[in-house]
Amino acid sequence: MNIALIAHDRKKKDMVQFTTAYQHILKNHSLFATGTTGLKIHEATGLDIHRFQSGPLGGDQQIGAMVAKNDMDVVLFFRDPLTSQPHEPDIIALIRLCDVYQIPLATNMAAGEIIIRALEKGELQWREIVHQKRKKESGLE
Ligand code: PGA
Repeated sequence: MNIALIAHDRKKKDMVQFTTAYQHILKNHSLFATGTTGLKIHEATGLDIHRFQSGPLGGDQQIGAMVAKNDMDVVLFFRDPLTSQPHEPDIIALIRLCDVYQIPLATNMAAGEIIIRALEKGELQWREIVHQKRKKESGLE
C-alpha cells in the first residue's frame, strides 16, 4: 500500500513517536511524505521514504496528485489546528481529494492508530481491488 505521512511543525513529535511505534507495520509499505516530515521520520526510524517538497512549497499538492490518480491508499496527516498555515488552501484541497476518492485519512494521531491497526489486520485490502479495477480500465491488464 502507498501511505502518505504529513505533520505540521507542532505535530512532528507525534509523527516521529507514531512512526517509531509502528515502524514494524510501516516498513512493509511504500511511504511518501512532505519534505521535513519525511526527513524527521527517516532520521528517527531509518524507514525508506519518498520525500516530496516541503508542505508550504507544494508537498501537499504533490501528495494530492497521487490521491487524484487513486494511487495513494492511506493519508496520515497530523494537522495543527491551532496555528494558521500559509498553505491552508493546499491542506483543504488534499483533505477534499481524500473525500472525493474515499481514501482513509487521519488528521490526528488517535485516528492514525485506528487506521494503522486496520492496515495491519488487512482491513484495507479493498484498496487492492481499486488498483486492479483501475489497471483493467486503463488496459494495463
Ligand atoms: P513539511 O510539510 O513536512 O515539509 O514540514 C508539512 C506541512 O507543513 O504541510
